[in-house]
Amino acid sequence: MIPGRFDYHRPESVEQAIALLARFGDEGRILAGGHSLIPMMKLRLAEPAHLIDLQAVGDLRGITESGGEIRIGAMTTQAELLASDLLGEACPILAEVANLIADPQVRYCGTVGGNLANGDPGNDLPAAMMVLGASFVLQGPDGERTTAANGFYKGLFETDLGASEVLVEIRIPKPRSGHGYAYQKLKRKVGDYATAAAAVILAIDGGSCVEAAITLTNLGAAPLNAAAAAQSLVGGPVDTAAVAKAGELAMAITDPVADLRGPADYRKSMAGVMTSRAIEQALGRAQGG
Ligand code: FAD
Repeated sequence: MIPGRFDYHRPESVEQAIALLARFGDEGRILAGGHSLIPMMKLRLAEPAHLIDLQAVGDLRGITESGGEIRIGAMTTQAELLASDLLGEACPILAEVANLIADPQVRYCGTVGGNLANGDPGNDLPAAMMVLGASFVLQGPDGERTTAANGFYKGLFETDLGASEVLVEIRIPKPRSGHGYAYQKLKRKVGDYATAAAAVILAIDGGSCVEAAITLTNLGAAPLNAAAAAQSLVGGPVDTAAVAKAGELAMAITDPVADLRGPADYRKSMAGVMTSRAIEQALGRAQGG
């Protein structure tokens, strides 16, 4: 449980961090809150020779609103998502998700950017950002680019992040006011990763669903966008039959592995249950419940 030897670097700007990443190549690794990377290093599943700590890069923190978008700096902690009045008002699903990550100690150190860049299908924030239609701002040696959260996750610990790139900001289009939202996460105990989890955003107008998005956590090698399930809700009332159908469609795209959380079939079936529960809860909230 002791990590291998490494050199520690503490850049004071994103540009310095990128220059260090470019200099050390495969041997360099960004350190944010350290609550995924350090455990991996202790298990020798990661052995970077150079750790590039972002803690002294001050301009990567904060939650602001600009031009109809919510912007979250990558080094904002998971605990700060819970404390934000702006998010509580405009985008409450983020606090709901953050509250289900680990425990307060982890959330005080763990960052939003670290949770998103990690590429572990068990991380909860990727599904939240995907369901919100967020984009990630990535900065590298050639400048900045923006990429959609939907499409960023390629496989197990595999993302679209380039070798010398830093995730600097998350941009979320402000959801329409009065939208319904829910994150249903089945876990064995407080602090555990999801056995199965589903995020839902929907909007209701005149009794019909006019907008829906559904994403899933820890039910495949990467977070999943259950687009067909969401689409099946749009254009009609969200009644018992519609909820059941969406649950079935969501379940169909999952491919969980058997692990300590249960056999694959059980986790698949729980994907349907979590999806149905999240839709029902989101519907209740959209209707003012
Ligand atoms: P780090 O551990 O520092 O980094 C993680 C990875 O992301 C590293 O590869 C690093 O190089 C890279 N990285 C970090 N920031 C950036 C950036 N800005 N740009 C580019 N690359 C970057 N998470 C959940 O979602 N749900 C849980 O239920 C949960 N339970 C946990 C329980 C325990 C006991 C522990 C220890 C952790 C748990 N976590 C859980 C993980 C936790 O949320 C981590 O904080 C998070 O996954 C990583 O964020 P971090 O800031 O700690 O990143």
